[in-house]
Amino acid sequence: MPQIFVDGRAIQAESGQSVLAAALAGGCDLPYFCYHPALSVAGSCRVCVVQVEGRSWVEIACNMPATEGLRVLTDSELVREHRKSMLELTLLNHPVDCGICDKAGECSLQDYHYKYNGQPSVSLDAKVRLTKYHPLSERIVLDNERCILCSRCVRFTREISKTNALGIQERGDHSLVRAAEDGSFDKDAYSDNVVDICPVGALLSRSFLHRARVWYLEPTPSVCPGCSRGCTVNLWHRKREWKLHALDPARNTSIERVTPLENPQVNGPWICNKGRDLAKVFDRPRATQAMIKGTPVELAAAVEAARELIGAARRPAALVSSWGSNEELAAFHAAFGARFASYVKDDWLPQPGEVVEDGFLIRADKNPNNAAARARLPSWRERGEHFAAGTDLVLVWGEGFDLAQVPTTAKTIRLDGYASADHARADVFMPISIQTERRGHYTNFQGVVSAFSPCFAAAPSVADAEALFAALVAVTESAA
Ligand code: SF4
Ligand code: SF4
Repeated sequence: MPQIFVDGRAIQAESGQSVLAAALAGGCDLPYFCYHPALSVAGSCRVCVVQVEGRSWVEIACNMPATEGLRVLTDSELVREHRKSMLELTLLNHPVDCGICDKAGECSLQDYHYKYNGQPSVSLDAKVRLTKYHPLSERIVLDNERCILCSRCVRFTREISKTNALGIQERGDHSLVRAAEDGSFDKDAYSDNVVDICPVGALLSRSFLHRARVWYLEPTPSVCPGCSRGCTVNLWHRKREWKLHALDPARNTSIERVTPLENPQVNGPWICNKGRDLAKVFDRPRATQAMIKGTPVELAAAVEAARELIGAARRPAALVSSWGSNEELAAFHAAFGARFASYVKDDWLPQPGEVVEDGFLIRADKNPNNAAARARLPSWRERGEHFAAGTDLVLVWGEGFDLAQVPTTAKTIRLDGYASADHARADVFMPISIQTERRGHYTNFQGVVSAFSPCFAAAPSVADAEALFAALVAVTESAA
């Protein structure tokens, strides 16, 4: 464990660490573009330079091993001068079109320019014009004028997603990032991570393109329910103070984009493209109307009818949601554990065309909380998907089950957050809140527990499943 000194301050480095990584971990503020902690060193942007005390030249900190007793300066006159020159070079052909760039507000070049340079361009030549809108894949477009050739995106496809889908063509100020012609970038299930790691606004997500300025949005920490990996994510949505009133009010309660929430135990700094598309899951048409035999009723009337059915049942069964949170599963167990024959169902199965499983993050189980549910209850699939003879009531919680499979002699209670024509077939249907409207935890397949928080308030006509289970059992017990 070597000790280094940065601007005279002692920092304990890890063995094999670079000066840049050790200094950043020690709380120093050093600029960098091409360095990324999860990627190999490229050493191309040259802005992370430091000066070793006693030397009359600067060196890049990302490729300098932290060795015992090394003393470096990050703010000497030589370092400041070099850093400023490198930023001027980086900006030489950059269009500085921050006003229309999706990265504005999150751009390292913007930040460093104001922090370390802040001068207008000294060049008298016209900037080199390049492609402004190059389709790299069906999901990502590239603005070549904004690209600073840091090669992070190229190294990502080589070292992380391992598709080798991106490369740099040509030389000098005509260098261009381009995708391999075999379409491998389109097939890269992790391709959208390059949008996050691009330090400038060169790589842009088509789904988020010009959709919102980032300062109108806020992130809510959450967990991707797309598979049993349970990657931690940030769900970005409009801030309350920037609510839209006329343009499209539905966008006040929609997910604008999804980004990884770095988690060394689960997903590191990455997520797959399915996680990026969570808006397609959460923004589906919702179920907001309680029903008794397909007839709309007040939620309280549906709850009362469900209580009566439960009280009258002799052999009740339940199919439990593998998207239910740990808290909801505990509430379900406390309410019905002793009385119901309960099984965990797969709410979601792999969809046509999706990557089922790979050796990186994506898991074949497309449900976020099967691990916690299966720790309490047996699997419906492994049971052979049949109800015991004499079952007279079936409670179905969540998606992934067709009520036509219930014996015709049994009554049905259904709880779901999304709209489906099947709900009208239930004897009692109660709409429940979805993940973006409640707080809770999922346990992933490794046993790691991650929390999610609400982004929006649920409609008043929608029940909270945890509270609903408790309410139903209170009357069941008193009736018994
Ligand atoms: S597109 Fe972005 S990540 Fe890729 S080389 Fe250019 S600046 Fe770097
Ligand atoms: S790997 Fe699974 S949990 Fe992670 S982002 Fe993709 S679908 Fe979501």
